[in-house]
Amino acid sequence: MSIVAGFDVGSLTTKAVIIKNKKLAGSALIRSGPKPIESATRVMEKLLDATGILQSDIISAVGTGYGREKITFIDKAVSEISCHGKGAQWLIPSARTIIDIGGQDCKVIKLDRDGNLIKFITNDKCASGTGRFLDVMAKVMNIESSELGKLSAKSTEPITFASICTVWAQADVIKHINSRKPVEDICAGINAAMANRVAMLINSVKIENDICMTGGVAKNTGVVKTLSKLLGCRIKQIKKADPQLVGAIGAALFAEQMAKKKTGEKDDNSRM
Ligand code: ADP
Repeated sequence: MSIVAGFDVGSLTTKAVIIKNKKLAGSALIRSGPKPIESATRVMEKLLDATGILQSDIISAVGTGYGREKITFIDKAVSEISCHGKGAQWLIPSARTIIDIGGQDCKVIKLDRDGNLIKFITNDKCASGTGRFLDVMAKVMNIESSELGKLSAKSTEPITFASICTVWAQADVIKHINSRKPVEDICAGINAAMANRVAMLINSVKIENDICMTGGVAKNTGVVKTLSKLLGCRIKQIKKADPQLVGAIGAALFAEQMAKKKTGEKDDNSRM
């Protein structure tokens, strides 16, 4: 029996998955604390509780995310770019362009059909193309980030934000709330501002189909829809797993490769 685990210690959330006999067997997600090792330990406990698997049953474990180097119980740390690429192509084998939007950065990853990395670009300098931008705006509106997609779908007249700078956009949101603009229209404006910023980054590389999105923001249907319109192409939805778990899934797949090396089993590049 092959049991492997992947851990993704992100800026906002820490995720963990178990792949058992080539199938996703369980997952856990918590908010990241200030110390990556504590977040990783807590998510491991939650994962073991959820799956009933013992830590000693895990043959191999790989970590990713900004806190990956601090995890003491993994066999190897692998970059988020490699893990999101690997995880996305396992879930959607035709994926060639992966847009990963997490809490503090946005990455565009281009792969060939065999999963080799062709190119990647990152925006980690400005909050406006990241989940944090959405979280700040949602907080100002006194709603959850998870509500932004559903609310913006009801918008009839999306608001255009004059600036995509987080500070100015925040002031704009307050102004629109005070002038009693419909919440739905403000949400649609926020999602569009975010999608615009991300589209600028994506347009600096030649995107190739199929395109898919990973990271927590992939769950915001408003951003995905607007981005798809701006790019003029379909963004394939990851349905076989929570897109926020893709980095951890990729890490577990690297762990699977390591486990195979340990046991001398042939790597068949198995896909979900
Ligand atoms: P990181 O890996 O950097 O910690 P994540 O990939 O976990 O980041 O993404 C976090 C972001 O995802 C949050 O900033 C939030 O905007 C967004 N997000 C998380 N859950 C949801 C949801 N259910 N619906 C919409 N957006 C979400």
